[in-house]
Amino acid sequence: MIRTRIAPSPTGEPHIGNIYTALLNYAYAKGHGGQFILRIEDTDRERFVSGAEQQIKEALDWLDIAPDEGPGQGGAFGPYRQSDKLEVYQQKAQELTESGYAYLCFCSSERLDAMRKEQQTKSLQPKYDRHCLSLSKDEIKKRLDNNEPYVIRLKVPDEGQTKFNDLIRGEVIFENQLIDDQILLKSDGYPTYHLAVVVDDYAMKINPIIRAEEWISSTPKQILLYQAFGWEVPQFAHTPLLRNLDGSKLSKRRNAVSVLWYKEQGFLSEALKNYLVRLGWSHPQDKEVFDYAEFIKLFDFDRVCTSAPVFDIQKLEWLNGVYIREKLSDKEYQQYFYDFIPGWIKVLPDSESRLVQLAPLFRERLKRFAEVPELINYFFADEIEIDLELLIKQAKSKEIAREMLEAVLGELTDLSQWEKPVIEKKLRSLGETRGWKNRPFFMTLRVAASGCIATPPLFDTLFVLGEEKVISRFKKVLAGLMV
Ligand code: GLU
Repeated sequence: MIRTRIAPSPTGEPHIGNIYTALLNYAYAKGHGGQFILRIEDTDRERFVSGAEQQIKEALDWLDIAPDEGPGQGGAFGPYRQSDKLEVYQQKAQELTESGYAYLCFCSSERLDAMRKEQQTKSLQPKYDRHCLSLSKDEIKKRLDNNEPYVIRLKVPDEGQTKFNDLIRGEVIFENQLIDDQILLKSDGYPTYHLAVVVDDYAMKINPIIRAEEWISSTPKQILLYQAFGWEVPQFAHTPLLRNLDGSKLSKRRNAVSVLWYKEQGFLSEALKNYLVRLGWSHPQDKEVFDYAEFIKLFDFDRVCTSAPVFDIQKLEWLNGVYIREKLSDKEYQQYFYDFIPGWIKVLPDSESRLVQLAPLFRERLKRFAEVPELINYFFADEIEIDLELLIKQAKSKEIAREMLEAVLGELTDLSQWEKPVIEKKLRSLGETRGWKNRPFFMTLRVAASGCIATPPLFDTLFVLGEEKVISRFKKVLAGLMV
């Protein structure tokens, strides 16, 4: 049975990189009839952020990749939150000291600092100098009786290599002599990541372990632990790390990294999933657009690239636009659109019917739903800013702009019916009679009605804006052109 997992540390908002590995873990498990597990690795109390676990669950929920087991929902291999099973790790660390694979270390932080400084000045590799490895049994007992604080360290073999066959990268080899004697159990009784991750991945029967490239250097330490316990070593697959456009590790400074930000911005979760999984993996038919269900069927490690995939938000926006246009039903689209309407618009008397008219007009060009409030603002605002210079530029001169607006007001005032075909007919024939080319003429009216140079088609815009707003805006602009 294939069992995969994500093991996030609740240290902040759910990172897009973690979600990327979650999508691969989920797909691999489901593609092989297996299970996907959520485990919360909350043993680093200094970096712990309360509420972060809830946000991880919210993100998984939004992405529709529900774990089969996890904290709060249970399962046969719990607890799934590491802080709930500290005794287990303590006992395991104890076992290793008894079997000689680990040892107690009483070094004070001052001593360790001095040691590191000296190593630095001598340009030596920073590594614990094994000061406590040679403590006699009596000495240890004496110190324990004195209640001296201690940590438990892994005794890494002095020689040899630790190797593994990465499912994505092939053989990876580490020289043991370069590996530090890791702390396994801290003086406060909490395990470190290395001990807890191995104890849990083993106990929860996780195989393969699919995680980001940044954990590769941890893998030999963990393999040594599996060996020390006498446990079969699982398989590892280290996925490529997502990068910013400039090649640096995906970070807040260049891109938004919280998955929930993408939700708030009105990206569709299906589009984000498609985008992320396509980043480090190529579809056998080179497709860019495919749904996650298809990915689950096709995913294997052979097609994962090892070079760093670049996370480019503009490409994601493009793909999100494709999903908005092609994958949503009209009803779903309408609902999303409505969900992003600001409260002040929703309470206007006729907003509902106008929103129904408006929504389809934006479908072609929306890249994310959070654009909606700004895009539709001029349809509802009483006062809008109109840049007369911009308007004059469209018409080519102030005089022509004035002429256009005067004539249009003449045509549109007291129109028997404010209907799109009627408005369109009137304005087209006016343009023809006066010899105004469509582009400058319509652009002038567009700016006069909305203040913007990009709007939905002009006649739709005028129609939905309504007679009152159009006439009063045109009049105001005309007055402005008179001075
Ligand atoms: N707790 C680690 C993290 O924050 C898990 C790393 C792993 O997958 O082994 O991502």
